[in-house]
Amino acid sequence: MSYKSDIEIAQEAAPKLVQEIAAKLSIDDEFVECYGKYKAKIDYNMLDRYQDKENGKLILVTAINPTPAGEGKTTTTVGLGDALSRIGKKTVIALREPSLGPVFGVKGGAAGGGYAQVIPMEDINLHFTGDIHAVTTANNLIAAMLDNHIMQGNSLGIDVRRIIWRRCMDMNDRQLRFMVNGLGGKANGMPREDGFDISVASEIMAVLCLSKDLEDLKERVARIILAYDFEGKPVTVGDIKAQGAVAALMKEALKPNLAQTLEHTPAFIHGGPFANIAHGCNSIMATRIALKLGDYVVTEAGFGADLGAEKFLDIKCRISGLKPDAVVIVATARALKHHGGVHKTELNNENIPALGKGIENLLKHVENITEVYGLPAVVAINRFPTDTEDELKYIEDRCKELGVNVMLSEVWAKGGAGGEALAHEVVRVIGEKENNFRFSYDENLSIQEKIHAIATKIYGAEGVDYIGNSLNQIKEIEAIGYGNLPICMAKTQYSLSDDPKKLGRPEGFRVTVRNIKPSIGAGFIVAITGEIMTMPGLPKVPSAEMIDIDKTGKISGLF
Ligand code: ADP
Ligand code: MG
Repeated sequence: MSYKSDIEIAQEAAPKLVQEIAAKLSIDDEFVECYGKYKAKIDYNMLDRYQDKENGKLILVTAINPTPAGEGKTTTTVGLGDALSRIGKKTVIALREPSLGPVFGVKGGAAGGGYAQVIPMEDINLHFTGDIHAVTTANNLIAAMLDNHIMQGNSLGIDVRRIIWRRCMDMNDRQLRFMVNGLGGKANGMPREDGFDISVASEIMAVLCLSKDLEDLKERVARIILAYDFEGKPVTVGDIKAQGAVAALMKEALKPNLAQTLEHTPAFIHGGPFANIAHGCNSIMATRIALKLGDYVVTEAGFGADLGAEKFLDIKCRISGLKPDAVVIVATARALKHHGGVHKTELNNENIPALGKGIENLLKHVENITEVYGLPAVVAINRFPTDTEDELKYIEDRCKELGVNVMLSEVWAKGGAGGEALAHEVVRVIGEKENNFRFSYDENLSIQEKIHAIATKIYGAEGVDYIGNSLNQIKEIEAIGYGNLPICMAKTQYSLSDDPKKLGRPEGFRVTVRNIKPSIGAGFIVAITGEIMTMPGLPKVPSAEMIDIDKTGKISGLF
C-alpha cells in the first residue's frame, strides 16, 4: 500500500486566512501582524490585557527513547491538538520552528506528519518569518564586535585563546566547524582559531526562547560569557556593549508566529533551540500567550523524556513558573521492539517477546513523570501502518495491568478524528488525577549534586564520573556566582544512559561528564556527556537533492 507524502497532504489542504485563525482566539486585530496570508506574528504587548485571565491547561508531549527515525512527538502534538478541538475544547498548539540545516539534511521538515501537520509546511520549513535569520545576525554581530574590540587595542585584555563565542549559520556545513580566521596581516584582524555552530545551537536562540520580555532578553544577552581575560575573568556581551543592538535586532523575532493545523487549530510555532546544548522547546513567550488564549495548550519537548521533558520541567517551567497539567508519552511498537533488541531492518515484523522486553524503557519514563515530577501521565501509542493488532493490544494490556493510562493514537492516518480517544483520556486525567508537580532537584544544590540527581533519578544511573577539565570548570562557574543555575544535560537521546547502545532500561551504569559550558544568558549550565554536535554535516545523499520547485512556485520533496 502506498501513502501520500507529507507535502502532498499539506498541499491538498485549504488553509484559512491567518486573520480567521486569530479571530478564533479573539486576538484583537491591533496585535495581529500578518506575514502573507497564512502566517502572522502576534504582538506580545497583548499579554498586558490578559494579566488577570487564568491560564488554560498545559499538556506536554514527550516520548520514549527514540529510534533515529523519530517516534512522532510533533505528529502526536498536532493530532492531539486537532482532536481536542474536535471534542469542543478551545485548543492552541505550541511548537518549535524548524532549522534549515536538518530540512536539507537527513530529517526533512519538522511540521508533523500524515494528517497531523501544521501548514503552510513549505514556509514553516523554509525561512518562515525570519526569526532564525535574526538569531544568526545577532550572534554574528556579537562576534564582529568582539573581534573588533581585540583589533582596536583589546582594552578588556581578552585572551584570544579563550574565546568561547562562535559564529553561526543556519546550515549543516561541517566545513565550518573549525577554522583559523583574521589572516592577511595587521589590517585584517587578529589571527585566531574560530568556528561556526548551526544558528539554532547558538545561545542567542536559547535566550530568545527563555526571555519573558524584551527587557529580560536584553539583560540575558548582556550576561552571556564570550571569553576570558588574561586573568581568567569572564568577558560578557555587556562588557563589549552589544546587548542594546542585539535586543533591537531581536524585537520582531520575540513575537510568536501564528499558523494553523490541517484542521485549522491555531498553532504557535516559535523558537527552535537545539535539544542537546540547549533545552529544546518552543519559546516561553509563545507558551504563555497560548495559555492565555486557549483552554488547552499542547506543546512538545525535543528528544526523549529523559532529556526533553526533564529540561522542559526543570528548566523551562522553573524559569517561567509554568506548571504542566498532564504529560503525554509517545511510544511506538517499532521503538519498543528496538529496545527489546530487534535489528532496525526487522522492525516491521511482529515480535511480541521483544515488545515485552522493550516496554521497560517506556515504564521508566512513565515512572519518572509520575513519581519524580508528580505529574499525571498518559501513554499514546502512535500507530504505524506496519503495527499488528496483537502488538498494539499487548502494549495496551501491559500498561493497564500496571495501572498506566494508555490510549491508541491514529492521528497520522486519520488526523484529529484518530486522536479523539486520546483527547478524552487526557481531559479525564487532567480532571481526575492529582498533580503534585515538583522539580527533580533544588536549584540551590551544588552543580555536582544537581547532575547527580538527574543522572540517578531520571536516567537510573548509579553515579557520575567527571573527566578532563570538568571539575575545574564547575569550580570556576561556582566561583563567579552562577552555581545556582539549573543544569542542561547534553546526552545521547537514544538511551537512558550516556551510551547510545544501552537500550531498554539499563542498570548499573555510570554517567561520564566530560565538559561543562556556562550558558549564563540562557540561564543554565550545560553538562556535556558524550560527543556533542553543534554544527551537523550533510549525509551522502542530502534531502536537498530531492527538493524542487515548478514554474508555478509549487515546492516538492520537502518530505
Ligand atoms: P518527532 O517529533 O518525535 O521527531 P515526528 O512527528 O516529526 O517525530 O515524526 C517523524 C517522522 O515519522 C515524520 O516523517 C512522520 O511523518 C513520521 N510518522 C510519525 N508518526 C507516524 C505514523 N504513525 N505512521 C507513519 N509515519 C509516522
Ligand atoms: Mg518533533
